[in-house]
Amino acid sequence: MYHYVRPPCPELPYFRFLALDDFCRQLDYFEREFGFVSYDDFTGVLDGRAAAGNGVVLTFDDGVVDHYAHVVPELVRRGLWGIFYVPTGMYATGKLLDVHRIHFLLGRFGGPAMIDAAREIITDDMLSHAHVDEFRHMTYARQVNDAATTEFKRILNYYVSYEHRETVLDKLMRRSPAEDNLVRQYYVEPALLADIERQGMIVGGHSVSHPVFSKLDEADQRREIHDCFDFLDRATGGLRLRTFCYPYGGFHSFTPATERLLAEAGCRFALNVEARDAVDADFRKRPQALPRYDCNAFPHGQSRLQNQQLATSD
Ligand SMILES: [Zn+2]
Repeated sequence: MYHYVRPPCPELPYFRFLALDDFCRQLDYFEREFGFVSYDDFTGVLDGRAAAGNGVVLTFDDGVVDHYAHVVPELVRRGLWGIFYVPTGMYATGKLLDVHRIHFLLGRFGGPAMIDAAREIITDDMLSHAHVDEFRHMTYARQVNDAATTEFKRILNYYVSYEHRETVLDKLMRRSPAEDNLVRQYYVEPALLADIERQGMIVGGHSVSHPVFSKLDEADQRREIHDCFDFLDRATGGLRLRTFCYPYGGFHSFTPATERLLAEAGCRFALNVEARDAVDADFRKRPQALPRYDCNAFPHGQSRLQNQQLATSD
């Protein structure tokens, strides 16, 4: 599982990403140690025509522009393929998805500055009752970007009640250039998704708004799945196959209903985050929750310090 993969980006001094040259080194490492699974072998396992062998399958989440600009060309050069999981909500709203607004703001301004900005905006009535005291007594090491980054995420993910979160982020985003331009700079244009598939890749669904599915009722879960696949079908002229990956991932992030809804939507398999190999039994017994490793579990997969201090970003 990869997210951002790009060359250095000085305009976002605190941004956390995998450097493109580290990505290439990691591909070399995978080739040497495990080899890659071809698309035909992979669909063979999926169809039950073949047993799962050894090797790596590459996946890239969030539809960020890095994938079209840097990853696809590198994979094509090496004769490899990958699965690109794309959320769709930002194309309709003209706003970055909340998860990416947080990455962007931290990447551009750093944790301490964002905590100061959040404190100016957030009033007591925006806090969820359980967390008022924690917010008031919040301590963070003023000079340590890592600690401040974690705390800024905690403010937005836990302290601010859910109905105020978007308003707070709307206000914080006014510190940066017009957001609809940012959407074009941040994500792969829908018109290019067909081209990604033409180059031998798979485009998969990653929801509309990147929610935690386990927090949604069944009707909203269904909408997030169907609207996403409908959008991607229109954009690509028909997806090669339907596959999905859960926003955030981990067993807490979806429910048995999510797996059922995906199967009903014709989704062939869905990816979770669970750090172990996918074996035959997974494909046969629970194809809507296949395990997957984060790239940072392997050599060269860590984001490097771009500035003096490192911002974390999940
Ligand atoms: Zn994601």
